[in-house]
Amino acid sequence: MFESVSAAPPDAILGLTDAYKADPNPDKINLGVGVYQDASGKTPVLGTVREAASRLAKDLASKSYLPITGSAEYGEAVQKLMFGVEDEIVRSRRAVTAHTPGGTGALRVTADFLKQNFEDATVWLSQPTWANHPAVFAAAGVPTKIYSYFDKAANGLAFDKMIADLKKIPSGDVVLLHGCCHNPTGIDPTPEQWKQIAETLRSMGAMPLIDFAYQGFGEGIQEDAAGLQAFCRPGEELIVCSSFSKNFGLYRERVGAATFVTADQDSALRVGSQVKRAIRSNYSNPPSHGAELVVTILTDHKLRQQWDGEVAEMRDRINGMRKLLVEKLAEHGAPGDHSFIQQQRGMFSFSGLTPEQVERLKHDYAIYIVGSGRINVAGITPQNVDRLAHSITDVLKG
Ligand code: PMP
Repeated sequence: MFESVSAAPPDAILGLTDAYKADPNPDKINLGVGVYQDASGKTPVLGTVREAASRLAKDLASKSYLPITGSAEYGEAVQKLMFGVEDEIVRSRRAVTAHTPGGTGALRVTADFLKQNFEDATVWLSQPTWANHPAVFAAAGVPTKIYSYFDKAANGLAFDKMIADLKKIPSGDVVLLHGCCHNPTGIDPTPEQWKQIAETLRSMGAMPLIDFAYQGFGEGIQEDAAGLQAFCRPGEELIVCSSFSKNFGLYRERVGAATFVTADQDSALRVGSQVKRAIRSNYSNPPSHGAELVVTILTDHKLRQQWDGEVAEMRDRINGMRKLLVEKLAEHGAPGDHSFIQQQRGMFSFSGLTPEQVERLKHDYAIYIVGSGRINVAGITPQNVDRLAHSITDVLKG
């Protein structure tokens, strides 16, 4: 039977990593895959994670199954982190959180939930968006459409066009927004714009679905939740898909959460039962280790403070590299104004490089960038920034 199976196309971003690994050039630079790296190019295990892991190792209570939606402590910790410790949503218990395998798992559970309960709903995605978004919803049989987001000429948010598009969305559809650090553009709405977006969805009767994969990488852990909180009025509904891959550096542990904020506790119980149904036929129940690490850190005062510092260190390093790259490009006489790189937030920058320029950087300079021109700023280090700026300048000059 298997002889009739044709090869699937390789994943564009992961394929780039393979090509990078195979490149013998000692000065090669990988700005492709979206993983944080420190100044020495390593993806570190956070000190708080090491400490939490050693505490857990001493106290291995059981490896029996977790409940379908994970532990209650995890759900509570996730909600407090997003909405605030004393928030009405947390206290009223009108939200239900399922612990999922990563942010991708959260999106898939949400997609399955939507398919099961809102057959006719379309999910609206920003143009552009994370490449896996359309694939995850398509796999669940949920149709997607796009709304305007990126203004190429201004290298900024196409806000008026975005609002105009959102105003055409039928009631009952779902609008996916990146909570902060938009992937791939690095461009986020301002707090005032978030308010207007929330107001628009409210007036259209559309459901906000916030993909929250980079909390703490933009302005700060609390600050980055401001966009999402614009949708949190008493009685209002929203869905949040969280990932702790980046801000806890727990990529391979697969830690995420799908949170359904409903109008009241009774609705939360019903929605929770449907979320369980979606999970049961998918992976049955979640893996525990990563989530236990997150709970241990978030519920221990000292570890929580230490984690704030670790996230700040990652954020500051990325922003420092943005500044340095802009300075180095100017130093090398790169044509054009590149200051937009410093305004963008999070791990990514839409560099404006064309597919041809990206190909030349790979072929002639051993610099690996995604075809769309998306740069992982966390791949830049004080050691490689000069060569990077020099090479980009060469390519821009033609
Ligand atoms: N959403 C966005 C916008 C992302 O960039 C990512 C990770 N690249 C995810 C979700 C999924 O994260 P995870 O690795 O936790 O599945």
